[in-house]
Amino acid sequence: MSEDYPVHLELQPHVHLIRGANRAKFPEANALLIDDEILTLVDAGASKSHIVKTLTDLGHSVKDLDRIVLTHFHIDHKGHAAELQEESGCELLCHPLAERGVRTFKGMVQDYGIKGNPMYSDWISAITTWVPHVTSNYRVTGTFSDNKPIDCGETELIPIHTPGHTHDHTCFAINDYNTLLVVDIDLTRFGPWYGNVVSDIEQFESSIRKIMELSPRTCISSHLLNPVTDNVQGRLAEFLAAFEKRDEIILGLVRSGLESLEKLAMHPTIYAEFPHPIYYIFEEFMVQKHLDRLVKRGRITIEDDKIILSR
Ligand SMILES: [Zn+2]
Repeated sequence: MSEDYPVHLELQPHVHLIRGANRAKFPEANALLIDDEILTLVDAGASKSHIVKTLTDLGHSVKDLDRIVLTHFHIDHKGHAAELQEESGCELLCHPLAERGVRTFKGMVQDYGIKGNPMYSDWISAITTWVPHVTSNYRVTGTFSDNKPIDCGETELIPIHTPGHTHDHTCFAINDYNTLLVVDIDLTRFGPWYGNVVSDIEQFESSIRKIMELSPRTCISSHLLNPVTDNVQGRLAEFLAAFEKRDEIILGLVRSGLESLEKLAMHPTIYAEFPHPIYYIFEEFMVQKHLDRLVKRGRITIEDDKIILSR
């Protein structure tokens, strides 16, 4: 695979960004290689050729990998971890809440919450076509704890549990809190994604605030080619504001006649478009979460599946 950008980039001594293919857009994601005493890969959802090229360019091979650390159970993050582990015999670490979704495909489906969805079989066939490797089993060898540094030699990775995107979602500080891998608090124009049963809007909001309180100077996103260094607080604030904005858009759509979850989910509100029908599944999950909180806030009531705006 050839890209119009360098596959890897040294961010600081020992720390290399491995860029995903297709500008790191889903189902690709960036990874990090910590080229230190303990050769550590953080996430494994970039193209395998990108991971292998980075290792090779730095004088290593897959066999040299000592450890893979996963930020959460999603397919664009656990990615090629199972094959890389098989080839290298490396450790595989994740958050305790990630274990079920990482270990097996069945566990992942449970955490997605899509079993029984009318589009479930479409989703399965998309997954087995696009990313067949994620249907395999992953051998988790251990878990990390929030705030307890993972020692790589001269480099330390400090896990910051930041649930919301998923329950296990974890950012990492690299040595200090100036440079953070913010994973899927990804600062993309798309904004936050919370389309699983284990996703939660309120948790997502507090996690973004938690990152803002750390006042990082550099945020490494899983889905942007370059780390964000300009206006970091502003970018995080804008990302955070998306939830309230979407609340208002949904209220506007209800006002205009989309008075049920079913109608709302067919309308691209969170996704700007539906490139494949399976995106409806996740649109519906996300819209449902907005409706839940709008009910909680007294902005709407729902009677017999009909959404009624409060006066
Ligand atoms: Zn994710």
